[in-house]
Amino acid sequence: MRNDLQNYIDTIPAIKDGYQMKETFWLNDKIVAGGERTIRLLSPEKIDDARDRLERFAPYLKKVFPELKETGGIIESELREIEGMRDFLNRNYGAEVEGRLMLKMDSHLPISGSVKARGGIYEVLKHGEDLALKAGLLKETDDYAVLAEPRFLEFFGRHTVQVGSTGNLGMSIGIMSAKLGFHVIVHMSADAKQWKKDLLRSRGVEVIEYADDYCAAVEQGRKRSDEDPMSYFVDDENSRDLFLGYSVAGGRLKAQLEERNIAVDREHPLFVYIPCGIGGAPGGVTYGLKQIYGDNVHCFFTEPVHACCMLFGMATGLHDQVCVKDFDIDGRTDADGLAVGRPSAFVGKVVEPVLSGIATIEDRKLYDLMRGLLDSEDIFIEPSSCASFAALIRPKDLKRYIEKAGLSGKMKNATHIAWATGGNMVPEEMRKEYLNKGLS
Ligand SMILES: *Cc1c(COP(=O)(O)O)cnc(C)c1O
Repeated sequence: MRNDLQNYIDTIPAIKDGYQMKETFWLNDKIVAGGERTIRLLSPEKIDDARDRLERFAPYLKKVFPELKETGGIIESELREIEGMRDFLNRNYGAEVEGRLMLKMDSHLPISGSVKARGGIYEVLKHGEDLALKAGLLKETDDYAVLAEPRFLEFFGRHTVQVGSTGNLGMSIGIMSAKLGFHVIVHMSADAKQWKKDLLRSRGVEVIEYADDYCAAVEQGRKRSDEDPMSYFVDDENSRDLFLGYSVAGGRLKAQLEERNIAVDREHPLFVYIPCGIGGAPGGVTYGLKQIYGDNVHCFFTEPVHACCMLFGMATGLHDQVCVKDFDIDGRTDADGLAVGRPSAFVGKVVEPVLSGIATIEDRKLYDLMRGLLDSEDIFIEPSSCASFAALIRPKDLKRYIEKAGLSGKMKNATHIAWATGGNMVPEEMRKEYLNKGLS
């Protein structure tokens, strides 16, 4: 273990748990009322800018992805009430979920079946737009459906997009970049599943495999991209654009809640639980929600015990200056979307004044939760997604938060949202394998 970390283990119980690879639930003591107004690293107008950009692209997306016909080119997922799952959690895990439990089904987002269809696709579109505007081939006022024309395929074909990925980010970046006509290279870590590599190759994406972990794949990808002036690197560790793509989810969720007359205010708190890898997706969604709901939304990240990098980064305040290997933890988890050893360089700092806490979960429980959701709701999601229930199954810790936040007595009116971050594209044989995991 890195020798300067012992002090954190001795003084912060959640760090001690993390180090011992025990499940834990850390409450963020740096959260402040109105914390979103203190964030200086980004500005909220950027969210509107991202939303508007996605709207400009809608006619193009509708044209090239038939599955987006129905929504007019907007990539959005269903919000579904899951009462059966609430009963399952209360019965089998002693959860004490009062109020409503809902599933935000990014697991079923069109195009790439994971939350990365928000940030990843957004960043590729933005890069494509930047190039086309600069070349004088496009104006913001044009109908972006023109981007499907051969002259644009030819134009983008002279450019390369590269990314390092454990799987899902590569899927979103790969599919979207290839559709626009880019040459695209996805650098995949050892955790990445074979079927994802196969699928990408079938879409014309170049996949390079590494025996090492995620950070190594990113490093190699960045290096290769830097050597090529026509190449653009999607940098999961630092990208503001990815983050902003995710943050658009806030306004979209607001519209969905309003449509169902679900109130979010002082008397009706909203609790949101989002699985965390490097932090971009849960951080962006949290940032977007906080701008809208302020102190009435309570956001939690969830991580596997073997890859709890954001817990280590935020609870120590060391952020990206610490990784799980520094604590002698291997980073190996079946939740491949969360198999990240070092947190983002900026997300932890951005969410420091607004994040409620971080819960961690053991891999074997992910499978049990997966079966629970399938049995009770007939919804399949992948192991990473199932981490979204990690906080709800620790009722004592959640109660500690509820009391601290002065919400006791209001929880009957609360809405809980588990953010299902992936699953729809998992092939049938893999689903079977997952569903049999840990059953004797
Ligand atoms: C990427 C991913 C996450 C987390 O996103 P980060 O930006 O890495 O924190 C969660 N779930 C799934 C399924 C993912 O693919």
